[in-house]
Amino acid sequence: MFEKILIANRGEIALRINRACKEMGIATVAVHSTADADAMHVRLADESVCIGPPSSAQSYLNIPAIIAACEITGAEAIHPGYGFLSENAKFADIVKEHGITFIGPTPDHIRMMGDKITAIQAVKAVGIPTVPGSGGAVGDGDDAVQAARKIGFPVLIKATAGGGGRGMKVALTEADLPLALSTARAEAKSAFGNDQVYMEKYLLRPRHIEIQVLADSQGNVIHLGERDCSLQRRHQKVWEEAGSPALNAVQRDEIGGIVTRALSRLGYLGAGTIEFLYEDGQFYFIEMNTRLQVEHPVTEALTGIDIVREQIRIAAGGALELKQEDVTFSGHAIECRINAENAFTFQPSPGTITQFHTPGGLGVRFDSAIYAGYRIPPYYDSLAGKLIVHARNRNECLLRLRRALDELVVGGIDTTIPLFQQLVREKDIIDGEYSIHWLEQWLVKQKHA
Ligand code: ADP
Repeated sequence: MFEKILIANRGEIALRINRACKEMGIATVAVHSTADADAMHVRLADESVCIGPPSSAQSYLNIPAIIAACEITGAEAIHPGYGFLSENAKFADIVKEHGITFIGPTPDHIRMMGDKITAIQAVKAVGIPTVPGSGGAVGDGDDAVQAARKIGFPVLIKATAGGGGRGMKVALTEADLPLALSTARAEAKSAFGNDQVYMEKYLLRPRHIEIQVLADSQGNVIHLGERDCSLQRRHQKVWEEAGSPALNAVQRDEIGGIVTRALSRLGYLGAGTIEFLYEDGQFYFIEMNTRLQVEHPVTEALTGIDIVREQIRIAAGGALELKQEDVTFSGHAIECRINAENAFTFQPSPGTITQFHTPGGLGVRFDSAIYAGYRIPPYYDSLAGKLIVHARNRNECLLRLRRALDELVVGGIDTTIPLFQQLVREKDIIDGEYSIHWLEQWLVKQKHA
């Protein structure tokens, strides 16, 4: 096992990784920008190294500085968390070349899944169902029109290098196609430096259901069930559940089996998530995330498995402690992403937190790096905390979430807490009846109310 791990991240996820290391008796090294010198992840790690000025490009994405921090402190492995360098295959290559262990999949798998077209082709070849689509990149001319006609309108133009919901545009009819193509391309170019796009059938009322997997270097692959992340705004998740209100245990086993067999054939290593759209009983692959996800705690609540601990054990060459038949799913869990932004306009709201009180009690977890007096810097993403609630069934979970949201106080800044306080009382949410488009439509209705 490693003696010291460098955590190449900040915020709640850096704390989350620090916690797993502490429980495993592993020393930790935090890295930080000058804007984060007082941050909680720096305070709680055993050592810390400043790696640059506030901008992410010069700090949390600064590969030479992170490698140097490893060498100075003698850390043997790097956990990248999510975001930043977590899905950067070149970073994983460089880490390896320096004799340091990257806690994650192989650079080849990161590369394969990082390009959405090669990802679709790879998973299709091992039996995973995909969304009807162009199957490859499309141009701006006749080929795009032909591809769209073949798929059938509406179609969705997506960036090959996509992420974070950017570079995605819908064409409802053939007349919309030229503009959808050019705007998706321009957005992709500015966000990813790559303007390649492809096309998929635009599904009208799917749910977003994803399967968490763990694969070790001995060839064992298990799944930890599904998460339903259908409540989204601008293709970004805001509320996640395990299990999905739309699946039963038989369906979970079935899709879990398809995914584990596929990843075993691909020789995948580490933790990963296969994301699907789910409509009329059918699963359609959209992408694979080759890293820890923001919403992993809902799966931990249901299974009792510490996913970060498993990532570290796998990276150190250990075998999975559990077989598929040992994985059990107990109760229901919901996570709400508490962002430092206005609950209804979604305007970012950086600033100083004046009051802070976290909810507690049975089945309540709050993952966060904020504290009273902490100033949320304007340079990074707006996630201020994650409220995760677990109970014996979905109904009890919703009631527990209601009271936990009412106990949570984050003063001095705007947060998304009021949004969740309304959502948890909505009939469709209580009934579990919502697709990926539900929240956007609800927000429009609120505006007109
Ligand atoms: P990104 O990598 O940018 O997050 P994804 O492919 O994971 O992109 O898609 C993000 C979200 O966009 C999905 O969860 C879903 O809400 C929506 N989406 C993606 N593909 C489709 C599709 N073919 N039809 C309808 N919605 C889609």
